[in-house]
Amino acid sequence: MPEGDSIFRAARTLHRALAGHVVTRFDTAYAPLARVHDDTPITGRTIEAVEAHGKHTVMRFSGDLALRTHMRMHGSWHIYRPGERWQRPPREMRVLVATAAFVAVGFNIVDAEFEAASAVGTRDAIAHLGPDLLAPGFDAAEALRRLRERGPVPIAEALLDQRALAGIGNVFKSEVLFEGGVHPETRVDALSDARLAELVDIARRQLAANVVETMPRFGRRTTGRMAIAEGLWVYGRGGRPCRRCGTPITFARQGLGARPTYWCPRCQTA
Ligand SMILES: [Zn+2]
Repeated sequence: MPEGDSIFRAARTLHRALAGHVVTRFDTAYAPLARVHDDTPITGRTIEAVEAHGKHTVMRFSGDLALRTHMRMHGSWHIYRPGERWQRPPREMRVLVATAAFVAVGFNIVDAEFEAASAVGTRDAIAHLGPDLLAPGFDAAEALRRLRERGPVPIAEALLDQRALAGIGNVFKSEVLFEGGVHPETRVDALSDARLAELVDIARRQLAANVVETMPRFGRRTTGRMAIAEGLWVYGRGGRPCRRCGTPITFARQGLGARPTYWCPRCQTA
């Protein structure tokens, strides 16, 4: 599943390529989007900005229109030069926005809709998002309040809840908890404000460190080590030795969707 850092990176890349330019072509596999395009054409509008809101990508057009997309499990935005060969089959194209210089293609996006640009952020999907870990004006106090609001749930579940914090997916969940030395089953109400604030800080730092253009090629990195195989502390390392203490990393499926959690039973105590 794409995490906040990859959505942010994708939005920034789209913004740099498209913002300020006029749409020369719009195409979509979705009837509701096609209808909006038929009624009020997207071609001819200027792309004003592309932004990440948690795991949503919002493309703003002139004339008070915005396209909101969510990547879910398999969606992605690619950017190509006109005529360049796509890295995915055309049948996986769901949305296409082209300018004279670039073609942005949304593949396998299952959640996409147009809305008034002025209404972005007021709709449920975005309005209920917690503070965005990568936003410049990140509100740490609000993040803390929202984490507490989740109730006595395991911290691993609270960190994934986008209504508390926007941007953490399964990889960073495990990595943040390892770096904080917190066991994933620890209940939120058992953690002090200082501990929670520390976890939020670690999450911001890890996500920000991964918002680098070249990062997808080299994989995510939380350890600060350059070698690809040494990039992560615990995620995907079940049974292998902890990088700090050598104890085998534990693995369990937890919570909604039974997403895997990895942790060191020695470094991370409840
Ligand atoms: Zn350890």
